[in-house]
Amino acid sequence: MSYCVNCGVELDDTAQSCPLCHTPVLNPNQPVDMWGPKPFPTEKGEVPPVARGELALLISAMLLSVAVCCGVLNLFLRAERAWSLYVIGAAVMLWLWFVPPLLLRRMPVCVRLVFDVLAVALYVFLISLDLGGGNWYWHLALPIILLGGAIVLCLGLIFRGGKRSILTTTTLIIGAIGLFLLGVELFVDRFLTGAWQPGWSLIVVTVCVALVIPLVIVRRVPSLREEVRRRFHM
Ligand SMILES: [Zn+2]
Repeated sequence: MSYCVNCGVELDDTAQSCPLCHTPVLNPNQPVDMWGPKPFPTEKGEVPPVARGELALLISAMLLSVAVCCGVLNLFLRAERAWSLYVIGAAVMLWLWFVPPLLLRRMPVCVRLVFDVLAVALYVFLISLDLGGGNWYWHLALPIILLGGAIVLCLGLIFRGGKRSILTTTTLIIGAIGLFLLGVELFVDRFLTGAWQPGWSLIVVTVCVALVIPLVIVRRVPSLREEVRRRFHM
């Protein structure tokens, strides 16, 4: 049995140098055993990475089979209602959410978000086909989905630049919620009465503004920011 002359670690008979400090092993009384089995594997074992293409194919096949099965069932079961559109729409939406990002490795976040929003719009469109209401889709659902998508896209663009502090993130998200709900009431009012009479959304916006103002002040004043950081362990 040899020990490393430099760091003192116990050495295996087959070691030509110390595995820790790489000092060559020289022990005239016990030459290095060149033929014996090594205590460590000689080849690097690596877990093969999941093939993204295969995963995409698997997800596509699963969603496609569910959609086709429901479509065929719909022909025989309650054929007067296009109920399978709900399942087919969900399958299309899930496909758009998960498969393109798998196939296009370097898909920018913005493009991905646009895809996601379009997928939701498409799904709701298919539902509107079954409910026989093209009107509410074009004048109410689609504008709300697009508004939500635009706001999420803006947030995505802002956050893409790097990690933001919790204060900034909270401020932006509260502001975005207020803006979104204001838009929702605008579209609902225009759809129902043709005119915009802000009511409940103004209350929400007031609450949001009341929350955002102190957050902005805290962000601007360094001493306050430090205080908050210390108190809330940010
Ligand atoms: Zn050593």
